[in-house]
Amino acid sequence: ERDDEDASPVKKLDTEEGHSQKVASHYNTLQECGLAARSQSRIFYMRNFNNWLKSVLIGEILDKVRRRTGELSVLDLGCGKGGDLLKWRKGRIDRLVCADIAAVSVEQCQQRYGDMKRKCRPHEQIFSAEFVVADCTKELLSEKLKDPEKTFDVCSCQFVYHYSFETREQADMMLRNACERLRPGGYFIGTTPDAFELVKRLEASEANSFGNEVYSVTFQKKGDYPLFGCQYDFNLEGVVNVPEFLVYFPLFEEMAKKYNMRLVFKKTFHEFFEEKIQNEQHKFLMKKMQALEQYPADGRNQPASDSAEEYEHVKRRIDGADVKGPLGTLSKSEWEATSIYLVFAFEKMS
Ligand code: SAM
Repeated sequence: ERDDEDASPVKKLDTEEGHSQKVASHYNTLQECGLAARSQSRIFYMRNFNNWLKSVLIGEILDKVRRRTGELSVLDLGCGKGGDLLKWRKGRIDRLVCADIAAVSVEQCQQRYGDMKRKCRPHEQIFSAEFVVADCTKELLSEKLKDPEKTFDVCSCQFVYHYSFETREQADMMLRNACERLRPGGYFIGTTPDAFELVKRLEASEANSFGNEVYSVTFQKKGDYPLFGCQYDFNLEGVVNVPEFLVYFPLFEEMAKKYNMRLVFKKTFHEFFEEKIQNEQHKFLMKKMQALEQYPADGRNQPASDSAEEYEHVKRRIDGADVKGPLGTLSKSEWEATSIYLVFAFEKMS
């Protein structure tokens, strides 16, 4: 996913660096670009759609854990520039730990949190947050936290886990970081490319790659898909991205058992959309995002939506509007790109 990450040209990656370093420098060099540039992007609606999906997933999971717990603690694993901060605010959590390998992104995330805190309403209690730069496939995160004994109700890993599937050790370390400190009844949620979908598209293509004018995926070869280190290049909007690795989901599910995790669901983005759009609240959010489509869906630059004036404005635009399917606002090419992904939730048993 390149969801909240602005797709501006990146510097050439140093091929001498290790893979983790490549990932860090790639995300570190992505520039923050303005709203105008963002809304002209060909993947603008795709970003909005991905944000809707993450909002629904996060909202539903927080509702589940809220019933069982007093204070709500969340780990945002691979937080990037903090594209989900507003979702944590809306979800009224108490504590957040943001971790990412890219130091510049973590810095921007921290800044964004600071801005959000400064601008919040006088009586609003905003969650406390801690920011950590770490390669979560190689380092034990808890050792870097102020309180190494800290436990979480939710770990959210959005568009990140596939970077760990380079080796079994790395995939296991990321899982350990995600799950080891979860309280029983806590959730590990995320989004990651669907290996079946990628391989299906590859096998259907005559070349070692497939895609359209929005995205392309290139494998080294066909027919041989090792369980770890099965690398492909993902290219979005002409920006060369860092290599990613296939996540064979049955193996992921099996590995998660080591940390007492039970798979609650695994759905393609399409299945998830079809199911969740039936819910009036989620439908309203989709309508709102589509009505406000000139604003980035994560809330940046959005007028304060709690003012009566703004509410009326939004309401006028939404009333009478029909919710559009994923293809309503997304171009066919964007939909092809985003339908590569799946969404998952695991629950900690004990
Ligand atoms: N989760 C954010 C979101 O949804 O907006 C950012 C997603 S972005 C596509 C992927 C993120 O994963 C980047 O910020 C990248 O730095 C981070 N990442 C990749 N490998 C990582 C690793 N080994 N440890 C920690 N973070 C990593």
